[in-house]
Amino acid sequence: FSTAAVSSVTTTTVSKSVTLPVGHGNVVAHGDPTFLESVDIYFDKAAAIAATTPDILAQIKACNNILKVQFPLKCANGTVELIEAYRAQHSHHRLPVKGGIRMAPNVDADETMALAALMTFKCAVVDVPFGGAKGGIKIDPTKYSANEKEAIIRRYTSELVRKNFIGPSIDVPAPDYGTGPQEMAWIKDTFEHLQPNDINGSACVTGKPLEEGGIDGRQEATGLGVYFCLREFLNDEALVAKLGLTTGIKGKTFIVQGFGNVGRHTIDVKFAQGILELPCDVLIPAALETQIHSGNAGNIKAKIVAEAANGPVTPLAETMLEDNDVVILPDLLLNAGGVTVSYFEWLKNLNHIHFGRMSRRMEERGKTALIDALENQFGNGHRFSDEVRSQVVKGNTEVDFVWSGLEETMLLSWENVKRTSQGRNCNYRTAAYLIAIERIATCYRVSGIFP
Ligand code: GLU
Repeated sequence: FSTAAVSSVTTTTVSKSVTLPVGHGNVVAHGDPTFLESVDIYFDKAAAIAATTPDILAQIKACNNILKVQFPLKCANGTVELIEAYRAQHSHHRLPVKGGIRMAPNVDADETMALAALMTFKCAVVDVPFGGAKGGIKIDPTKYSANEKEAIIRRYTSELVRKNFIGPSIDVPAPDYGTGPQEMAWIKDTFEHLQPNDINGSACVTGKPLEEGGIDGRQEATGLGVYFCLREFLNDEALVAKLGLTTGIKGKTFIVQGFGNVGRHTIDVKFAQGILELPCDVLIPAALETQIHSGNAGNIKAKIVAEAANGPVTPLAETMLEDNDVVILPDLLLNAGGVTVSYFEWLKNLNHIHFGRMSRRMEERGKTALIDALENQFGNGHRFSDEVRSQVVKGNTEVDFVWSGLEETMLLSWENVKRTSQGRNCNYRTAAYLIAIERIATCYRVSGIFP
């Protein structure tokens, strides 16, 4: 993410250019619950109608591990500063656990645990076989030089290694707010220095630069996933008719809050600036949590709120929006494209495949093997259509493979959320939580309890 770019609001329709700060995440006023409480409230709502037992629900809800580290940084000006950082591992029902690392001034234990829980449920919604985790470093990254940031990231990684909180089969970080491919390259390099015998070392982190074992298309993946899902929703005649809209993306107005790695890849048109409360068809918060709360939800004029960020809408705001017939497309589904492509990157690293360096035939075989692996992940006998299969296998570039796999994943997951919401008579968020809870419950039940 580019944090400078994140601190803005963009709209496709307003031409006057102003930059408005995105409020700090996790700061809620107006009697809203905190971010962590919000995640629990959403979980409990689905848990009440989930087909599983209270003991399993309690196991799923709890955050398994939370690591807090404090370490010194030698600053460029010669002073020494204490840095505070976290890594939360929410659920180990699938391994490794997975989730980004953010750098922001408001990072704390509660925020990290809330974000780790969202990772658990998000991975389950798109059936990506990871548990959930999240990391946070409590700094404003814009106030540190590249050398200082490198030192912070390397020391943080070494703390994770020492505490067994990172590794290709243990816990695999990725970019999040305030971090990007450069930070991931430092993490990989540090890990490989400390664990030289791990032949899969490069799979200890995803979202790496292409030259460092990254996968083409990962940077765009979260935004593109948001786009695919929105496109499907807007192409559903019955659903958009209820909102008094015509079908299709064309002619709709969108406001995007945040122009970082997610927002900029969701919409590919001319940008100008605007605010959350302007009239539009689709409002896309793409920055931090709790941006839409009981203090501003009543003023929102959008018909659809598409949660590209993690946890941007508080439960009080959700009720207010729904009372005004606003449809919310939830984070668990909508922004899961990032971790989906992280999964492709992790598989690529474990397979030691380097697309573009093999013979055409080898490459086709490699891609076929990856498609087969993905089909097996869906478990329920799902097969990619012949069209997608041949598009992927014959595609010339890695990015064809990545984007078609992403599209297929988003479409299948959206269909499942839509069907569940209709079948279980609940909103899309509760449907997504239900899908996640019931999938995770099956894992817990079948694995039993150790010892
Ligand atoms: N930070 C991203 C998220 O919130 C991606 C996590 C990952 O790829 O592991 O979903």
